[in-house]
Order: sequence, then C-alpha cells, then structure tokens
Amino acid sequence: MTTPIRILSPIDGSIVAERTAITDSALAAAMGAARAAQRDWRKTSIAERAKSCLAAVDAMLAMQEAIVPELAKQMGRPVRYGAGELRGFAERARHMVSIAEHALAPVDPGPKEGFKRWIQRDPLGLVLVVAPWNYPFLTAVNTVVPALMAGNGVLLKHASQTLLVGERFQAAFDAAGLPKGLFQNLVLTHEQTARLIDKRAVDQVNFTGSVAGGQAIERAAAGRFLGVGLELGGKDPGYVREDANMAHAVETLVDGAFFNSGQSCCGIERIYVAKSRYDEFVERAVALTKTYVLGNPLDEATTLGPLVKTDAATFVRGQIEAATRAGAKALIDPKSFAWDKAGTPYMAPQIVVGVDHQMSLMREESFGPVVGIMAVADDEEAVKLMNDSPYGLTAAIFSRDAEAATRIGQEIETGTVFLNRCDYLDPALAWTGVKDTGRGVTLSALGYEALTRPKSFHLKF
Ligand code: NAP
Repeated sequence: MTTPIRILSPIDGSIVAERTAITDSALAAAMGAARAAQRDWRKTSIAERAKSCLAAVDAMLAMQEAIVPELAKQMGRPVRYGAGELRGFAERARHMVSIAEHALAPVDPGPKEGFKRWIQRDPLGLVLVVAPWNYPFLTAVNTVVPALMAGNGVLLKHASQTLLVGERFQAAFDAAGLPKGLFQNLVLTHEQTARLIDKRAVDQVNFTGSVAGGQAIERAAAGRFLGVGLELGGKDPGYVREDANMAHAVETLVDGAFFNSGQSCCGIERIYVAKSRYDEFVERAVALTKTYVLGNPLDEATTLGPLVKTDAATFVRGQIEAATRAGAKALIDPKSFAWDKAGTPYMAPQIVVGVDHQMSLMREESFGPVVGIMAVADDEEAVKLMNDSPYGLTAAIFSRDAEAATRIGQEIETGTVFLNRCDYLDPALAWTGVKDTGRGVTLSALGYEALTRPKSFHLKF
C-alpha cells in the first residue's frame, strides 16, 4: 500500500490535497500508451504540433483565476504575483513554438557533386520532465512544450509540493485535444523515477531541482546512455560598479534577492558594490527592504509570502545566525515584521554586511529572503569573488558601460551575464549553467538540440 503524498500549505500547514503514487502496473500501461502515441506524433507536421501546443497555452490561461490562489496555497507565492507565472509560461511556450520550424529544420552541409546529403533532427522518443515547486509552471514548460514540438512524448513528474500544477498541465493538453497518452502527468516516487531511467523506459530526462536530486538522477542514468539535462542550484551574484545608476541597481537587485521569498534559482544571493558607492547602496537597499509586506500570500497586500517549509526558513535563519556569530551584521530588525516568527515558514527579509567568503551565507545556496553585501576595490576583485562559488547560473552587472560589462562578463564563470537586470529568463537565449549548477540547455534554438538526435542522410547517385 503506497503512502499518500500530502501537499501541506506553507500558509498554515493545512492539507491542500492528497495524492498517491501511480501503481507499477498502471505505470507500465502509461509508458506503453506514451510510446504508441509518440510513434504517430513523430510523423505529424510542425504546424500541427504548434496548433495543439498553442491551444494548450490558451487552455492554461483560461484557468488563471483558479490557478493563482491554488499556487499560493501550494507554495506560498503571494496572489498579487500569481498571474506573472502564467504570463512567463505563455511567453516561453509561444516563443519555443514560434522558432520550432527554423530550429528543427534539417542542416544542409552544402552541395557535393553526385551526392545528396542532409542532417535531420529526429525526436528522441519519450522525455521525462522532473520539475521543482518554486516556479512550477515556468520550469516545466521549458522542456514540455519544446519536447512536444520536436515530436517527442512527454512524461511529467512534478514536485510533491505542487502536484496540482501537473494536473493543470494535463487538463490544458487534454483540452487542446493532444493525442491520448502523448503527454502524461504522473505521480511518481523517487524510486519509480529512478527505475524509469535505469530501465531506459525514457530516452531523455530533464531535471530541475537541487544538486543532490541532480546527482541521484545522474547516478540512475549511469551507463544507460540516455540524455540527462540538469538545471540545479545557484548562488547568483550582482556587481554594482562605480558608474551604476544607483536607483535602478538598488530596486532591481533588492527585487532579485527577495522576489518569491528568495526561492528563485537565479535569485540574487550575493552583492558586491564598488567601495565608493557601498554606503549609498546599503542605505538605499535597507530602506527599500523595510517596505516589504510579509504575510498571508492570499492577501492582496502581501509582497513577501512564507517560505515553502519551516525547515527552509530554519536553514536560512541558521545561516544568518552563523554569519553574525562570525562578526557579520544583520541590518533588518525582524521584529519590525509582525509575521516573522521562528519555528514557522514566515521570515523577514534580511540584509547582511560584514560578510566574507568563509561564511555559508556567501557560499551555500540560501534559497530564502537574505542577501549578503560586500564592498570591492575594482572589477578584478569583483570577478574574483563572483567566481569564488561552486555554482554558476547567472551574474548581474550594474553599470553604464556596456563594453566594460561585456569584458567582465567574459571573465565570469556563469551561464548568463546580465547588464542592468537580473532574475529573468529570456526564452530566446540559452538557459544553462556551469559547475554545480549542472549541464545541458533549455530554451532558445539550442534547447531543441537536447530534445532531438541528429540523423545523417548520405545518398550517392
Ligand atoms: P528537489 O528537492 O531536488 O526537487 C526537484 C524535483 O526533483 C521534485 O520533483 C522532486 O520530487 C524530484 N526529486 C528530488 N530528488 C529526487 C530523486 N532522488 N529521484 C527522483 N526525483 C527526485 O529541489 P527543490 O527543492 O524542489 O527545488 C529547489 C532547487 O531547485 C534549488 O536548488 C533551485 O536552485 C533549483 N532550481 C534550479 C533551476 C534552474 O533553472 N537551474 C530552476 C528552479 C529551481 P519530490 O518533490 O517528490 O521530492
């Protein structure tokens, strides 16, 4: 008998929903149905696939009114920001649909007398998408829609915290009339997930989540020769140069640090500021941080919800305490946020100064509403500190000098270099990372490469 999976709301610990993992026999039948559906789907035209995917996007948007509070109850994002997740979902899906014809076109190596040659991009078969709870629509859509557009079948294993999001995907694709079995939302245990990979029941797995989860997936895939895409954690830095527009830098970086209560893979977790602008930056950042409204995410006035779990908040509080014990200074008084309470997932945003790279706060992913700020002497020191991390997802430079930013960007070990923005995904660009952030690419034309396999035709006349 499988134990039910309970979605406990971070709002008040109540049960949002309860589901049980699929039985092994139902899973075998689901995999058979997916294979059969994909065999036909791979022969459809890109235009036909586009029609279904765009209809699914419309169907998802039509559910927005119900989805927004449902999302808040599952993972704590304030309802005032709920629509943003679906906007991003639609933007990414539509972009990937719009570039599919071009990105999936055969490669022509050029003429050769007496020969006809081309490289075509065949679908892989079945793609397993393992998604996290923190941006549950956005992270899943990065693979789900392009995988279908490329002619694959898709199996979605959503996070236990956001199982209802998987059901919304299913409802949207069902409403769009996608062939039965081609897209399936499955409630899977970790063990079942690993088994699907180990038995090569799927041809590609795209995992978004923690480093430990990514390592488990890679272990399951060892020696199976299937594709593994891993989008893992981050400890993303911001660097404010002397010539930065200060008002813009403060507003953007504070939002980048605290949006979604800091639970963003590309959220700002460390800030380095040119020495001459340091005091000004800190003063303004503290003033802005004090304006956040911590509270119940179902309340329209709330700008900062609870963390997903009490344990997550306890971890972040521990990082702050360890840093202050080692000489750092926390500049926000948690008592000025009425909802802040130890032993609950509600915690005040925090800015910590006097930090160094010996502290966990500046090294380990916090995934919470805290940011450490350090002064730096010059670009060289900023680059050295930005690179002093086990992660590399994005890095954000604030400056009026695009040339300098480009030069600095070349030196940063990261997946994305931003100038004057942060915590954002442009679906036209490759979403990728280095070091413990994982490997592989989603979005952009390059995202299609990982969802297809090349097949060369070499015809001699
Ligand atoms: P997580 O615990 O690793 O879970 C992510 C997903 O993987 C969930 O569906 C989870 O299922 C599943 N999972 C975890 N361990 C597994 C295993 N051993 N076998 C099979 N499935 C497994 O991560 P999270 O706490 O949800 O997400 C937060 C992390 O994701 C952060 O580190 C964040 O930086 C990262 N993230 C990265 C990106 C990016 O684009 N790079 C984007 C978003 C988030 P259950 O829920 O059932 O355990």
